[in-house]
Amino acid sequence: MTVTTSATLPVTLSHHFADDLPELALDWQAEEAPDPRLLVLNQPLALELGLDPEWLRTDDGVRFLVGNLLPEGARPVAQAYAGHQFGGYSPRLGDGRALLLGELTDPAGRLHDLHLKGSGRTPFARGGDGRAVVGPMLREYVVSEAMHALGIPTTRALAVVATGRTVQRETAMPGAVLARVAASHLRVGSFQYARALAQEGPADLLPRLVEHATTRHHPQAADADHPALALFEAVVAAQADLVAQWMLVGFVHGVMNTDNVTISGQTIDYGPCAFLEAFDPATTFSSIDEGGRYAYGNQPQIAEWDLARLAEALLPLLHDDEAAAITMATTALRGFAPRYAAAWDAGWRAKLGLVGDDPAHAAVVDDFLTILQTETPDLTSFLVRLADGTARDHVLDVAAFDAWHTRWQALGPDLGLMARTNPVRIPRNHLVEEALAAATDGDLGRLAPLLAAVTAPYGQAQGLDRFALPAPASAGSYVTYCGT
Ligand code: AMP
Ligand code: MG
Repeated sequence: MTVTTSATLPVTLSHHFADDLPELALDWQAEEAPDPRLLVLNQPLALELGLDPEWLRTDDGVRFLVGNLLPEGARPVAQAYAGHQFGGYSPRLGDGRALLLGELTDPAGRLHDLHLKGSGRTPFARGGDGRAVVGPMLREYVVSEAMHALGIPTTRALAVVATGRTVQRETAMPGAVLARVAASHLRVGSFQYARALAQEGPADLLPRLVEHATTRHHPQAADADHPALALFEAVVAAQADLVAQWMLVGFVHGVMNTDNVTISGQTIDYGPCAFLEAFDPATTFSSIDEGGRYAYGNQPQIAEWDLARLAEALLPLLHDDEAAAITMATTALRGFAPRYAAAWDAGWRAKLGLVGDDPAHAAVVDDFLTILQTETPDLTSFLVRLADGTARDHVLDVAAFDAWHTRWQALGPDLGLMARTNPVRIPRNHLVEEALAAATDGDLGRLAPLLAAVTAPYGQAQGLDRFALPAPASAGSYVTYCGT
């Protein structure tokens, strides 16, 4: 018996997802971690969730964090979903190495999924070993917490626990489990799966999924004349806003498959993601993205493509007549581009310190973007330098920069607004790699300073200068790997 339950744990897990959508929930348990050791605990998040960090650090708490000790009544499940991966459809993906332990209710009464990654094979594992290793799980921890600190909707990381098991990758690596917290794990692929299943099985599955998703994430859609259409419109808006925020900080998700696009509008699944250094729209970091499908500059169009797959899954609920349903879906999806453009424009105006509604702003933003594209500076530090007056030292075409700079200065940019909207410290690839390589070798000493830096992204900070600098040229180009 690997999993024990106890009536006395200071935590309660509900199972609304498994109750409402049993067709998408397969009862399953985490495999035993032979020697679980807490590597990092997110104390502020634990407190926000109403969990006791001291208890989470105990042996029982750590066994809870790997799914080996559960409160009585918990019902862990592997979730079923489908997905388009790099454009190709897989009808059955699902949690191959993950589990939804259940839902936590925070002190304000909000529900959060508590989910494990690396908790062992499930019936969805196909050829995979069901496991995860220390480096990539710490990477998700660091990058998702950085995103949260940047104010970008994201799943959060509660803890990473080393399992004490050796996992075979290219070499033997220490195994780990990430405990992740999300508004939910409903994704476009959940709807694709439900649509396919409903064709042969329960006719009410798709409406039930819509109702569950609406209640949890977009409750205003329930009161609309057409709730399924309103849900779709709400997801389109949430994703347009989300991807605009990624683009404004140079975040490249790297694997925007439909199973990695949430209904909540949170960023999910930190695999081959990374932040831009040089501002080049063609940037990809993922070793397997040879065609550049998920390159930085493609992300808005790809999000729209993924949302079209959600629309297809929802068609039977939009209208009995398929042609009419397609028209409704297409019209709603057309809302993506203007919503995205508005968020992107507003974001750039703030990053350039432009306040108020001056018709001159649009051209100054556009011309700044042209400078970024021709000069390809390190995005993050260039914006900091723009505010402190040293950007000019980092351009080749000084005359063009000066001409633009004069027009920009004439608009009276608000430096305080710039300081609040342009991060100084992001997870720099070389520094993340350095900290994770050390952690994989058992040295956690570089993790805490990295986390301190990226969870305080704005403003100058004593002792954190190296986290504000671009990679030295010697660092070479950066490659990330999926599914690790
Ligand atoms: P991801 O690329 O992490 O979004 O995963 C895509 C699919 O592959 C999901 O169904 C995962 O559960 C599955 N998967 C990834 N890695 C593993 C693994 N090591 N063992 C089993 N399934 C995996
Ligand atoms: Mg995924």
